[in-house]
Amino acid sequence: MKVLKNELFDEFKCLAGECPETCCYGWRIIVDDKTKERILEKDGIWGKCLRLSLSGPDKNYFNYDSGSCIFHGMSGLCNIQKKLGAEYMPEICRKYPREIRNYGTFATMNLDLSCIHVSDMLLSRDKRPSLIECDEEIERVRHGSNDDPQFEEIVLTSQKELIQMLNVKPQLIYDPVTMDRILHSLLAYCQYAQDTVLEHKDMKLTKDDGRPLYFYELCKTDDMPDAGRSYFPLPIMALNRLINTQFDMQDSRPFSMINRTIEWYHHKFDLKTEIEGQKVWKSMVTDFIREDPTRMEALLRYLQYDVQQCYGEIYENYSFVHFAVSAIMHVNMFLFLMVNYNRRKKLTPQKMAALLSAYERAACHNLGLQKDMYAIVCDYLPVQKMAVPISAPQTLESGSQQS
Ligand code: SF4
Repeated sequence: MKVLKNELFDEFKCLAGECPETCCYGWRIIVDDKTKERILEKDGIWGKCLRLSLSGPDKNYFNYDSGSCIFHGMSGLCNIQKKLGAEYMPEICRKYPREIRNYGTFATMNLDLSCIHVSDMLLSRDKRPSLIECDEEIERVRHGSNDDPQFEEIVLTSQKELIQMLNVKPQLIYDPVTMDRILHSLLAYCQYAQDTVLEHKDMKLTKDDGRPLYFYELCKTDDMPDAGRSYFPLPIMALNRLINTQFDMQDSRPFSMINRTIEWYHHKFDLKTEIEGQKVWKSMVTDFIREDPTRMEALLRYLQYDVQQCYGEIYENYSFVHFAVSAIMHVNMFLFLMVNYNRRKKLTPQKMAALLSAYERAACHNLGLQKDMYAIVCDYLPVQKMAVPISAPQTLESGSQQS
């Protein structure tokens, strides 16, 4: 089958006991049927222990309260794996952070950025990881039921063009306007594509003036759609509303990096009026981007990764606009965390990676929270709030944090 595989996929190796974070905290872990069967048949003290640890309404979860998994040992390793072997670990733990989606005629293979090592690989390597087209056997069961070769072609071609759009000239990397134009192009294209598919005029998306690069060129001129509104940065009030969702409660550990960063933001902004706060925020972002080109590069890499990992899902849900709005939110939230962290501490590439994976863990695996955050961002963009299908990445779709 045709597979679009992120270059990082084959490079990844879990850091296990050497990992500076852990993926054994904060997730509800669904125990798949096959593993549960093995657990029910296991005799001895370990069998009893595993069965007693099953919880949730159907007794098919470990770590149902999303605290720290009781099998996470002091050495940082999983005690189930150490004592019994991987076959007694839930499938989701065996596969994480690998994410494979089988769309019937093509598949995607990615890694989830909630793993700190994946975020680090993304931000620390010399060049951006590409999406490799290859031919592989895919065992994963089919995801969705769409069967439309023409639409598949449209989605995969526009995905390539969107990635191309992110290769900005080196001199533009110091200017926040660069990202603003990119995000305007993304939303303008996605709105056009959404309307076109709703009108069943998909062929328009294969013409030159119906493709992402056309919208990108348009956004470089005075005719940029919705030019009076900033998509990068989003207003500080929008970001304030986003962190005042349950987002700031996703990691309850004392001194969690994300919560400390939010605290530092509050110290700086809480006593300011909305107008003052917005002025300060805009100048902080401009200085932040101008000081160091690796910061814009980190944001562009994150956006590219989002296009590589999540854009293909449009083949199933036809939600171009949902993709664009979520991408605008993700880029702005990552910016928000980096700028506020940088006020107090040195923002090294490793710290950027830690913030990115913490953001992904908090915001991208809790469907209720995603919907709330999505609705807030819609208030600041020229889009209607839509009841859109929101799906968690497959690796964690059922192991998401408690809402
Ligand atoms: S967060 Fe990533 S590197 Fe760390 S233990 Fe989990 S899978 Fe391994």
